[in-house]
Amino acid sequence: MTELSTLSADDEAARERLYAGAAGMLERTRAWSAHNTGSLNTDGLKRFAPKLADAFAALEADIRLVQGPGFEAVGADGKVTETHSGPIVEITSRPEAPVQVVMSGHYDTVFSPGVFETVTDRGDGTINGPGMADMKGGICVMLEALKAFEAGRLKDMLGYRIVLTPDEEIGNFSSGEALRRAASSGALIGMTYEPAMETGAMAGGRKGSAVFDIVLHGRAAHAGRAKEEGRSAIEAAAELVVGLEALNNQFAGVTFNVGSIDGGAPVNIVPDLAIVRFGARAPDHQAAEWATQQVQRLFGRATSRDGIHGHLHGGFYRPPKPRNSAQQALFDAVHATGRAIGLEIEFVDTGGVCEGNNIFAAGVPNVDTLGVRGGRIHSNDEFVITESFPERALLSALILNRLADGRLDGRRIRDLMGR
Ligand SMILES: [Zn+2]
Repeated sequence: MTELSTLSADDEAARERLYAGAAGMLERTRAWSAHNTGSLNTDGLKRFAPKLADAFAALEADIRLVQGPGFEAVGADGKVTETHSGPIVEITSRPEAPVQVVMSGHYDTVFSPGVFETVTDRGDGTINGPGMADMKGGICVMLEALKAFEAGRLKDMLGYRIVLTPDEEIGNFSSGEALRRAASSGALIGMTYEPAMETGAMAGGRKGSAVFDIVLHGRAAHAGRAKEEGRSAIEAAAELVVGLEALNNQFAGVTFNVGSIDGGAPVNIVPDLAIVRFGARAPDHQAAEWATQQVQRLFGRATSRDGIHGHLHGGFYRPPKPRNSAQQALFDAVHATGRAIGLEIEFVDTGGVCEGNNIFAAGVPNVDTLGVRGGRIHSNDEFVITESFPERALLSALILNRLADGRLDGRRIRDLMGR
């Protein structure tokens, strides 16, 4: 790994360029942060996507804005409606080059309009603003790393597909297929730009995440005159909830959490509708299968009650991303690369999920926290550490240089998948 930890002439050139451009990266991220792109702010997303396309036009790449398919949502009335998100930005460069990489990032944030829209320089080396870390800063870092790479001598050796998504924070239900397609086009490794931790640590293994909505229908009846004719959907839901929570601590690493129950009726009517919404997390494929079987079993039990029927929606929309030998080999290579610029990068396992899970599910090992260092994401205290912009852009540029000149053997790493 020693050759990964030393700087080539191309690496030195990237360093000079990225540190010289640090102020520009910050400026752009601040401007992007001020533009609201809450996941459900379709208008805001539509207006923002062309800004991304403009910025990425600096690359030698083909750029398209594509409207993804609609996705299902179960309403409080138990009915399924179709929801749409903003455009997906799909970028392709040098698809014939010998080394191919898939890159991804999301431009939506968890903040609806009016919740958190101001950008504040705190004067202590951090900037507070919506999406500064998660992950408009990361998208800037990705772009500048690619510009630095393309300014070097290795560019014809490496091509990439980038997917910038409008719906990561709500599960990539519209952009998941675009991610899968980009990852399946011969990519050796994946690079995703979620924020690194404040300390610079990055995510190691990730659990898989599922979301389920179970809609239960009973039979309404007047609670005073004909209680015995009614069949309570809430009673069935209550049994279901207790059963789901009892699954915790039954299979290593698998957790269930019932988040909400909708439905019900006035107290003088037997309720004929209840919707139980819950999530599950599982560390690997086997655990996810077990969790799914348990949900089906409990759904079967609920709907075998007299007069109750129902619908089961959802599943593991982000499959687990365990630390297998391919992932570990990639982490080791990134660690050695970080050493070239004085970073000792640690990889920490997490229960959180991101697009890296989807890229892994497509058979491509990946690192998914190549973005800026920051913290308190998904809160009004979200902040980014300003000095991390050139640092993290350089880390990515060095990874690209190493993939292109063979110091980092992406093919060997990808071939470790499934072993
Ligand atoms: Zn994110």
